[in-house]
Amino acid sequence: MKDLSGASFQTRAVHAGERAPRGEFTPVATPIWPTVGYLYESMDDLDAVFARTRPGHVYLRYSNPTVEAFENAVANLERAEAAQAYGSGMAAIHSALLGCGVKAGASVLAALDLYGATHTLLNSLLSTMGVTVHMVDVGDLDRVESTLRETKPVCLLVESISNPLLKVADVPALASLAHRHGASLLVDNTFASPWLCNPLTLGADYAIHSATKYLSGHGDVLAGVVATTQENKNKLFELNKLVGSVLGPFEAWLALRGLKTLPLRVKQQCVNALQVAKWLESHPRVRKVNHPGLLSHPHHALAESLFQGRGYGGVLSFEIKDADREQVFRFMESLRVCLPATTLGDIYSLALHPATSSHRSLTEEERARVGIPEGLVRLSLGIESPEDILADLKAALEKK
Ligand SMILES: *Cc1c(COP(=O)(O)O)cnc(C)c1O
Repeated sequence: MKDLSGASFQTRAVHAGERAPRGEFTPVATPIWPTVGYLYESMDDLDAVFARTRPGHVYLRYSNPTVEAFENAVANLERAEAAQAYGSGMAAIHSALLGCGVKAGASVLAALDLYGATHTLLNSLLSTMGVTVHMVDVGDLDRVESTLRETKPVCLLVESISNPLLKVADVPALASLAHRHGASLLVDNTFASPWLCNPLTLGADYAIHSATKYLSGHGDVLAGVVATTQENKNKLFELNKLVGSVLGPFEAWLALRGLKTLPLRVKQQCVNALQVAKWLESHPRVRKVNHPGLLSHPHHALAESLFQGRGYGGVLSFEIKDADREQVFRFMESLRVCLPATTLGDIYSLALHPATSSHRSLTEEERARVGIPEGLVRLSLGIESPEDILADLKAALEKK
């Protein structure tokens, strides 16, 4: 409908004001493009876009300009050729697994210490679809190599900084072991964020993020993204056209906006985490503190070399001495600045009890094997001032 002058009120209500030709200007901030469909001058143009011989968009499940801006920004920060966005971090992990060749009859090797839902995805979903899953402590490189040799997995899946024990993966060593045995290396880089670590430059094939966390950073959007080569991205793109685990343009816009302050936020979060970790380490009610910035952490030197002094991440976990569930719950309820909410990587400081939340779906034996005691608390530091966070933790730990 090019000329509306003769049209009825009802038709004008539908079309008036829409589809104005774009002017000779470029918006400074990327607009939100909520459109599902697109128009082209000719059907030949549309045909070429479908064939991907000319750039463009045809349908929201395939691609979208706002989402594409977010993908390009993440690819840039991860030093990757391309990225594919998803509606959640779990969708990103699931798609990367399928994209690298996981299917019935294949086997997967994964780190023992993984985000709870990833653990469950592998062991309770993929394992029922004919995929064999093996999990090892990826800090034991000999064990990784022997398992690669024996089980011939299509991929090795690890977290650059693991959840909730903050183990650091030796990405360069794992990449060369995986490649020697014909496996792709998938790195969930959520906890490190691209500010600390770019897994692809260290030899990994896929860098995966729950963009819900540090990338977006404000606790108001669920998103995921996979950064990889253009060739792998093309596969992920075709796969997602079928599966439809897409990121919406509104969420993509928020995530893109969040990215701009990633280094500022993460720098402050790293400073806060290290200061709090050191303080907790000397507190009599605390048995053990896990944070790669501590000299006591077994991967401290590795973290220093991989992250090149940019920091050690904004998350730590600690064990309250001899605490049962009841005592941990009372500690969590006593916090005032730190919020007991189930997420991480926000501007807010957040506390979480892994045994009853992120790692709830593991059996007690599985938690014991991974090393998650009842008294373990995970703390994701926000950007508040460290003095207020310390005072809050002190009051909660020392409450009678
Ligand atoms: C949160 C998280 C996920 C899952 O991401 P969602 O966005 O919640 O789907 C995966 N891996 C890690 C390390 C996470 O922290």
